[in-house]
Amino acid sequence: MAALTYMTLYTGRAEEMRHAVENSNNIVRLASSDIARNVELYDLSLRAVVAGAQQPETWALPPALRQRVLFDRATAASFLGGAYVLDTQGRVKASQSTDDTPGVSVADRDYFLVQQRNPDAGLFISKPFPSRLRHGVLSVALSRRINAPDGTFAGVALIVVRLEYFQRLVDRVDIGPGGGVFIIMQDGTLVASKPPMPLGAGADYSGWRNYPIVSRHDAGTFAAHTEADGVERLYTYAHVRRTPIIVGVAPAVDDILAGWRSRAYLAVAMTTVFGGAWVVVSWVLAFALRDKVIAEAELQRLAVTDPLTGLANRRALDERLQAEWNRASRERTPLSVLFFDVDHFKLFNDAYGHAAGDEVLKLVAERIASGTQRTSDMAARYGGEEFAVLLPGTALEGARKIADKIRRRIETANLAHRGSPYGRVTVSVGCASCEPPAGESGAKLLAAADAQLYEAKAAGRNQVCAKQWGDAGGVA
Ligand code: GH3
Ligand code: MG
Ligand code: MG
Repeated sequence: MAALTYMTLYTGRAEEMRHAVENSNNIVRLASSDIARNVELYDLSLRAVVAGAQQPETWALPPALRQRVLFDRATAASFLGGAYVLDTQGRVKASQSTDDTPGVSVADRDYFLVQQRNPDAGLFISKPFPSRLRHGVLSVALSRRINAPDGTFAGVALIVVRLEYFQRLVDRVDIGPGGGVFIIMQDGTLVASKPPMPLGAGADYSGWRNYPIVSRHDAGTFAAHTEADGVERLYTYAHVRRTPIIVGVAPAVDDILAGWRSRAYLAVAMTTVFGGAWVVVSWVLAFALRDKVIAEAELQRLAVTDPLTGLANRRALDERLQAEWNRASRERTPLSVLFFDVDHFKLFNDAYGHAAGDEVLKLVAERIASGTQRTSDMAARYGGEEFAVLLPGTALEGARKIADKIRRRIETANLAHRGSPYGRVTVSVGCASCEPPAGESGAKLLAAADAQLYEAKAAGRNQVCAKQWGDAGGVA
């Protein structure tokens, strides 16, 4: 369960990140194409200004008409900060608007110097700067060179775009509460950002940690901690084609994963609760089952055990006798049965009491049990003061020896019995042995042993009577 939850969460997280990158890519693509299209429009206007300015006839026109010839197309551009024709000294020669600051020179500006020095500069987009011609409004300039008929430098055509255009663009993007959007020049100068960067637009951010990454490649995605606030963001950026402008969006990783996190917490909590409950219930059931199994085993043991002596009871003996009889028939091996009976036990009870009689039975049982050695041998209390022993795989002579050994072990225990002619507790033993003949049963072998016991009693007790039973020895 835990592994499944982990896998689901892991793939879910990757999916959220992938989705965020897709979203960022779309935003970057849209913003880039907006900027590219506007730059194209500004450039068309600039080309018109250059074409007009290079016609000597234009300069022969009355000023009002000349203004319309030069700047008619430029006035349609949005966020226009001004359109100008500059002379070779960087002074305004003609302007699209009338409220100018006359006499100001912009000969030191990059957009002028580039065109002055390089006949093939083409369209040049400047860094943001506070406009001298427009009362310090932050602007970006687009410039093209004006040539004299002989190809020498004759001035610069200039369109100034208010930085507000870029700021409006980034303001329109919604990238989450912790996210950021930025437009930066190739050289690291910030054009616009949301939220505002500490140093503001126009500042140099080439020392910014992520600057080398975004300046080096055309487009890409990477995760990084922002220097200013330490928040981890997923940066996606692209260069606007044919311009030195880079557009980037950076949603915060926390924002991207917010929905996923709450789902993850719920999933982990539920897995823990259900998993924990499952384990607890399993343990409880396991313990209950174990107790039940132990109780059943004990019950089973009690059902086949004689409580006084701890030996197998008669029921267990009957079952085992049947099994051993069958096995001996199958394998053609001998099977012997011993039948023990304590001598004059009624008199012992009369003389010493039943409690002492019980103790004697325990001792006799112990001697009988310890007198058998093989694990396949079985001692059982048949009833009252009678015991039986099964000896599988043992023939008559072996059985007789075991019977006599046990008889002597009881006799030598020297338990006083004044009612007996021997003066102590003794047993008589009947022993019968056979290789199970077909069609007979174990019960008959037991009866044969019982008959031998009767013989031993009749012959004076405290002795063993043994006989081979069956085909060879004949049925007793
Ligand atoms: P024999 O030598 O002919 O076997 O004489 P016996 O007295 O042992 O024979 P009998 O079968 O007449 O008597 C068996 C006696 O064993 C009867 C009873 O008093 C006693 N007995 C049977 N079961 C128990 C028992 O669980 N505890 C005690 N203390 N005595 C028992
Ligand atoms: Mg008896
Ligand atoms: Mg007896």
